[in-house]
Amino acid sequence: MTHINIAIVAHDRMKPSLVEWVRDNADAFSHCHIFSTGTTASVISQVLPKDQSITALKSGPLGGDQQIGSLISDKALDVLFFFQDAMAQQAHDADIKALVRLATLYEIPIACNRASADFLIT
Ligand code: PGA
Repeated sequence: MTHINIAIVAHDRMKPSLVEWVRDNADAFSHCHIFSTGTTASVISQVLPKDQSITALKSGPLGGDQQIGSLISDKALDVLFFFQDAMAQQAHDADIKALVRLATLYEIPIACNRASADFLIT
């Protein structure tokens, strides 16, 4: 089975929805390595199997989004699941824009909400 590197991130108000989505799709990640920003990593870890391969990066506002951008520019990431809050201003808006820009530039598939995440994972 091909090894796929994915990144999973959710803004605070989207974390409950992301956790539900990760729980529903936990089997699909068994052959993936997951990179995740700090707080997102800690909440999704609770619904993933103990042997799931996962790397917790820094929290998004503390540089985690930039770390994912760095993975993209190093061609070390295949897919980005990024549940974004479209109704709240984020302190690290510049980092979010930079991450989405790099994903666009490097042709990385991005899912920014549950509907697109469902579509990508199937
Ligand atoms: P967090 O960061 O997972 O550390 O909350 C997410 C984000 O980029 O806002």
